[in-house]
Amino acid sequence: MNAIEIRNMNFSYGNTPALENVSFSVSEGDFLGIIGPNGGGKTTLLKLMLGLLKPDTGEVKIFSEKPLSNKNRVGYVPQNTHQNVSFPITAAECVATGLVGMKKNSKKVLETLELVNMENGAGKRLSSFSGGERQRILIARALVSDPQILFLDEASSNIDFLGQDEFYRLLEKLNSRMTIVVVSHDMAALSKRIKSIVCVNRTVHFHPNSKITSKILEEVYGCEIDLIGHGIPHRILGSHDHTHGGCCS
Ligand code: ADP
Repeated sequence: MNAIEIRNMNFSYGNTPALENVSFSVSEGDFLGIIGPNGGGKTTLLKLMLGLLKPDTGEVKIFSEKPLSNKNRVGYVPQNTHQNVSFPITAAECVATGLVGMKKNSKKVLETLELVNMENGAGKRLSSFSGGERQRILIARALVSDPQILFLDEASSNIDFLGQDEFYRLLEKLNSRMTIVVVSHDMAALSKRIKSIVCVNRTVHFHPNSKITSKILEEVYGCEIDLIGHGIPHRILGSHDHTHGGCCS
């Protein structure tokens, strides 16, 4: 069965098209990386898959149904996880908020914290953890309802360099039991783990069973690739697409 299926989808913010004629499907068990320049439409695509936005035309299906019909089968780790750090809540309380509409279950909360190696922090305040530890707690919150797909947005952006490898190993472990979809700028770390790639720059190209290559990057960024390195921000030179300004450094 396909975990995600998108057919002839278009989406605009007002009169400005954000995504045009998108069609692809993702098999169950895939590890999908979503890449593309800033403003290319990655977050918009993720929100359409989650049902937070509705397509203007075409359709999005999650396990053959509309996205919001499958809320508990989907886990979501949003962008900017450093927000609300000072909110007075413990790790366990934070994870329990992932059980919205479901029975309270402290055993399940602890088991999920264990899965991300954070069981010793259950009773501690969120503010007492490092960025990487907080990220794992937020992943636990997304996992506590036993989803079959985990979506992560810019997931590794606020984890320090040493924490990243551990973070991607955790995603690999989770991938043995669920489909993973991750939006990331860290293409070097992503490249080692993903099974398929979606390149988003208003239009969308799906590459099943593929690693990130310079050819793919040139295609999506529309410009020559200068440098991609782990821990070094990628740098893309010489835009060839002046209408859509995809390049960055
Ligand atoms: P990415 O995640 O790849 O950086 P986004 O999906 O955030 O890209 O944005 C895609 C395009 O849609 C951009 O041009 C952005 O300015 C625009 N956009 C995003 N959110 C909104 C919004 N709420 N209202 C209007 N335009 C938006």
